[in-house]
Amino acid sequence: MIKLIDLTMKISRETPVFPGYPQPIIHRWTSLKEEGYYSNMIFMVEHTGTHMDSPAHFIEGAPTIDEISPEKFFAKAVTLDFAKKKPGEVVAEREVDDALNRLDVNPGRGWYILFRFGWDTVRGEEWVRYPYLSDGVAEMIKSMGVEGIGIDTPSPDIAPFNVHKILLPESIVIVENMSNLGMVVNRVFELAVLPIKISRGSAAPVRAIARLA
Ligand SMILES: [Zn+2]
Repeated sequence: MIKLIDLTMKISRETPVFPGYPQPIIHRWTSLKEEGYYSNMIFMVEHTGTHMDSPAHFIEGAPTIDEISPEKFFAKAVTLDFAKKKPGEVVAEREVDDALNRLDVNPGRGWYILFRFGWDTVRGEEWVRYPYLSDGVAEMIKSMGVEGIGIDTPSPDIAPFNVHKILLPESIVIVENMSNLGMVVNRVFELAVLPIKISRGSAAPVRAIARLA
């Protein structure tokens, strides 16, 4: 039986945002009672909730979110478990290598590697003290030539954002703030990750869905 799992964070006024970014505003524009039809206006940074970073987020003249090929939106994915990592801890190259060997998978073109830290349930101060990937892990991912990576933390790195700077020039996209990765951990599955087509967007919110056979 096919099972679909939603890997997307809900967007509301309470959605946590990266330091310096505004909370999203969802404002009722029309109502059934007044105008006869219900609608809302949304105001938020492109990097709110579960979203895909385009290469243009860090590189001058690189593809923006509307220029990313739809081929990147459907892929095979594997979720690696790093739920034991503490705030501010780093994932080393060897740990990723071990995790992939244990699962006997060899991701490359047409694949995403997802990293589960369990951060989708963390809120408050600790949310911004997330564990992250070493530069060595980013180099390793670059050499694999995957389509993208995904994580359930706000970012795969901390300032000066080396993981972004290593992966984005290769057009390896980064999906941040994923949810429910614990439901697909240590598994291989089909991933759909569809960004809104924002003209010249540096990123865009996505709906990310896992399809388990
Ligand atoms: Zn982002």
